Amino acid sequence: MKSLNRQAIALISDHADPAAEIGLEEAGGQNVYVRHVGENLAKLGWQVDMFTRKVNPDDDDIVQHSPYCRTIRLKAGKQSYIPRDKLLEHMPEFVQSFQAFQASQGLHYPLIHTNYWLSAWVGLELQKTSSVQVLHTYHSLGVVKYQSVNQPSIADMRMQIEREILERANCIVATSPQEAEILRSQVSAYGRIEMIPCGTDTSNFRLMSKTDARKQLQLSLQEQIILYVGRFDPRKGIETLVRAFALLKEQSDKKLRLIIVGGSSPHMPDGVERARIEHLVLELGLYEDVMFAGQIGHDILPLYYTSADICVIPSHYEPFGLVAIEAMACGTPVVASDVGGLKFTIIPEQTGLLVPPQDTLAFANGMYRILFDELWARKMRKQASANVNQRFTWGGVAIQLSELYRHILAQSIMHEQSRYFSKPDSKNILNSTLSQRILVNATQVSS
Ligand code: UDP
Repeated sequence: MKSLNRQAIALISDHADPAAEIGLEEAGGQNVYVRHVGENLAKLGWQVDMFTRKVNPDDDDIVQHSPYCRTIRLKAGKQSYIPRDKLLEHMPEFVQSFQAFQASQGLHYPLIHTNYWLSAWVGLELQKTSSVQVLHTYHSLGVVKYQSVNQPSIADMRMQIEREILERANCIVATSPQEAEILRSQVSAYGRIEMIPCGTDTSNFRLMSKTDARKQLQLSLQEQIILYVGRFDPRKGIETLVRAFALLKEQSDKKLRLIIVGGSSPHMPDGVERARIEHLVLELGLYEDVMFAGQIGHDILPLYYTSADICVIPSHYEPFGLVAIEAMACGTPVVASDVGGLKFTIIPEQTGLLVPPQDTLAFANGMYRILFDELWARKMRKQASANVNQRFTWGGVAIQLSELYRHILAQSIMHEQSRYFSKPDSKNILNSTLSQRILVNATQVSS
């Protein structure tokens, strides 16, 4: 829906469709972030259009999430899955489709917020040809990722674009102080960075009765449950968790269960990782103790977090890590790798524990400490939920982003006006008229 009273802005998320089902190889935190940020910005008065690549001819071109928030699926390459490392060549078509859509709607987005490096490329292209303010969120960083995996041929190009967007965007939105620090020290000393975290839906992820949750999921009330939620990707460290679980079992006389939540598709990279993990489970003799729950939606996921005694996040790296705050919001203590955004969201000894990544023994010890100190675990439950409610709600995130957008739009208008007064010509008069319209609309948006 187009509204004359609202300022239209664009969120660009090349591969992560905000309207997609979450939990498969290509669908994770970025999809969740873009959708919730979009929906919450619309509640604050913006008209939010979220753009992604169309991957299935049967999918609708436009999905309306709420009256002023929609996902628009653009044609860019064949309408089927294309691995991210092969997507750059289709981004020029993405730009063309974006411009065609904008023209067809009689719209001009004065501000776009890009997500992931491929969208950053789109933002940099749009910046060359139109008057647009560009903000960017990385979600994943080449300099970090390529420390632990072999560099594909696209690696140099990706890292170059990640540096360029930091230096040329109007602002980078880092989601944790740790991410901001890495950007500064390893990507570029130039460019503006603001830290605004991710959030979670605290009306959905909230304190509930463990007994009720287990009954609803038909899980035993006698077992101690350890939970993993996330994609199947070697960098998520599920192998470390499975091995740590095997060690823990040796130390415990209680009945333990490991539940692994996350989808996978055969013939896709995540299917390969799932098969590897299943094989490991068999090899370690854990077949009866590990349950693969498959892909679970956010409507049911709170029941899993609530049922669990601990949620484990064994990632090699996480720029933020939504699963940590979802689990804590449900009052479930977290044992997580001492990396990236997990250092920021988890308060050690109060809401969970941080241990060295890939350290099987440390993960086993961390889980043991929480499982065998019921009093402490109960205290952590309250602290974990309070931590998230105070610091990480989508409503709070959207307010901070909205403020930043307004500030950046206002700055761009002042910049244009000073150019107009110093060098008047017909083009400046046109720009100035446009910018006044933006200023009026932007100030109508409540903060
Ligand atoms: N997720 C889900 N269902 C699943 C597996 C994962 O809804 O079966 C969601 C999870 O709740 C979280 C997101 O996927 O919101 C994962 O985000 P995170 O930042 O933890 O990891 P990323 O996918 O960005 O690496």
